[in-house]
Amino acid sequence: MELNSLYIDELKEIVKKYGEKEFRAKQLFNFFHAQKRLDIKNSNLPKKLIDNLLENEEIRKLSILKDYSSKIDETKKLLYQLDDGNIIEGSLIKYKFGYSLCISTQVGCRMSCVFCASTKEGRVRNLTASEMLSQIYSVENEYGINLSNVVLMGSGEPLDNYENLIRFLDLIHDENGRNFSYRNLTISTCGIVENIYKLADKKYPVTLALSLHASNNEDRKAIMPITNKYSIEEALKACKYYCDQTNTRLTIEYTLINCENDKDQNVKELKNLLNNLKVHINLIPLNNIKEYSGKRPDKRSVYAFKKKLESKGLNVTIRRELGADINASCGQLRRDYKGG
Ligand code: SF4
Repeated sequence: MELNSLYIDELKEIVKKYGEKEFRAKQLFNFFHAQKRLDIKNSNLPKKLIDNLLENEEIRKLSILKDYSSKIDETKKLLYQLDDGNIIEGSLIKYKFGYSLCISTQVGCRMSCVFCASTKEGRVRNLTASEMLSQIYSVENEYGINLSNVVLMGSGEPLDNYENLIRFLDLIHDENGRNFSYRNLTISTCGIVENIYKLADKKYPVTLALSLHASNNEDRKAIMPITNKYSIEEALKACKYYCDQTNTRLTIEYTLINCENDKDQNVKELKNLLNNLKVHINLIPLNNIKEYSGKRPDKRSVYAFKKKLESKGLNVTIRRELGADINASCGQLRRDYKGG
């Protein structure tokens, strides 16, 4: 495994192998995760150790290939290049409270949600922990900012890359490194039930966002095949367990598709599903993509749907549209760049 994905204890084994004292491991960890640097040639580690590490170990890099800045607000869409030539994307959004970065967890995705461009070529590969971290570090370094929030909502299903996700969560929070608060992280999932339970038992107070997008199993199966494996009820039961274990509130992501899932029947079903849960519903008007015929509802219908949910006692917001002039749905930018 690459050096910048390792825990301090694992780095200790590496430096010992090259005849160095254990404290060098902490120094190396600090260099990667607190100084957010990878050019160990310019570190103050002993030259012999640097030579050995460069010759025998891997340091995984990632670079910002392109950024598209909105002229309307300060949103940026980003394309990153990985060491093996793969491309992933993300977005940087400025809110009143600070900057939020949406990161990817896999190259592509195998979950086949019909409205998502990220899944059109399936899952190419998992990202390692360092590749998830490097999205954060490279943005902070490039733009001279400290992020307030990170959301794992770019391409990929985070819970389909479970081991690397855990490593990422441990490393980003490590007090010897970036020391990022779990409370400022959100993991978005289509609902991989067994891994929601596993993650819950870790008790990291990270917000979980369930991509629901439909109000009954039949409709959800038509747009999110994961529903064939786990019903909405099973997913919500796992989410409730997660929130109880971590003392967090669940977010429900609901993409509104015109005349598909924005009817009165959907309001009724959502109320029945979510009534007894501590949830916050985030309505996302669909981003049109060429591969899916569903259409974005107009503003008036979005607000009407919100009002109806609120009248049932549910807590609802509409995701603010940012960077409308550079808007591309998740995965679309990468496909366009590659000519997909
Ligand atoms: S919406 Fe998320 S889980 Fe579904 S295909 Fe896209 S990236 Fe994968």
